[in-house]
Amino acid sequence: TTATPMLQLQNIQTHYGAIRALNDVSIHVNQGEIVTLIGSNGAGKTTMLMTICGSPRATTGKVLFEGKDITRLDTHRIMRDGIAISPEGRRVFPDLTVTENLKMGGFFLGSSAIEEGIEHVFGLFPRLRERANQRAGTMSGGEQQMLAIGRALMSKPRLLLDEPTLGLAPLIIAQIFEIIQTIRAEGVTVFLVEQNANKALQIADRGYVLETGRVVLEDSGKSLLGNPDIRKAYLGA
Ligand code: ATP
Repeated sequence: TTATPMLQLQNIQTHYGAIRALNDVSIHVNQGEIVTLIGSNGAGKTTMLMTICGSPRATTGKVLFEGKDITRLDTHRIMRDGIAISPEGRRVFPDLTVTENLKMGGFFLGSSAIEEGIEHVFGLFPRLRERANQRAGTMSGGEQQMLAIGRALMSKPRLLLDEPTLGLAPLIIAQIFEIIQTIRAEGVTVFLVEQNANKALQIADRGYVLETGRVVLEDSGKSLLGNPDIRKAYLGA
């Protein structure tokens, strides 16, 4: 129903051995939203995305997807059930071509769905179509990022967890933000971790601020952009 958030984290703690990376984190993402998570290096942003996917697993608290408790499900199951992640870095298979990488993203779909998925991704990223037979490892950082998002979309997720990479050219970043909005318009909910907080908040309905493993602020994207403390700490103003 519309009243149930698509994603809920309830009082989550996540540890790496004795280190507590997330401390009593509670957030939600409603269906159809773009929600942005901002925070300094080491705040726990990547850990939050990975915890949603079950690796590492939360040590306490619950992750609910469409109201269902997925905290203890294994990662493959979570992915098959409608969540996809386009992780930080260039996590494409460097020795495979663009098309082969996309096929890997849809490995549990039938072959006609794979063809459809590839066409859909090529429609979103014409650059990938031009490079369909190029080995992924030889593409630019921005192109690899597009491929990582495209591969995530191959599983037809209802929720996309996205963490674009640092250090991309402004034109590529602008294209990726545009695509994220298109993806949302196509009905996919987006939870976005982004180093470029300014742009990420511009397209966000809401945002959360994470500091040393704790959520310290939640507000609309617009209000966070206009918040002087946030501007000073995260927007370089
Ligand atoms: P960045 O913006 O630099 O990517 P982040 O907000 O994504 O940072 P995380 O990568 O989630 O932060 O890291 C949160 C904390 O957990 C950091 O103190 C980090 O050193 C620690 N950490 C992350 N991964 C591991 C790991 N595999 N083993 C031990 N500690 C880890």
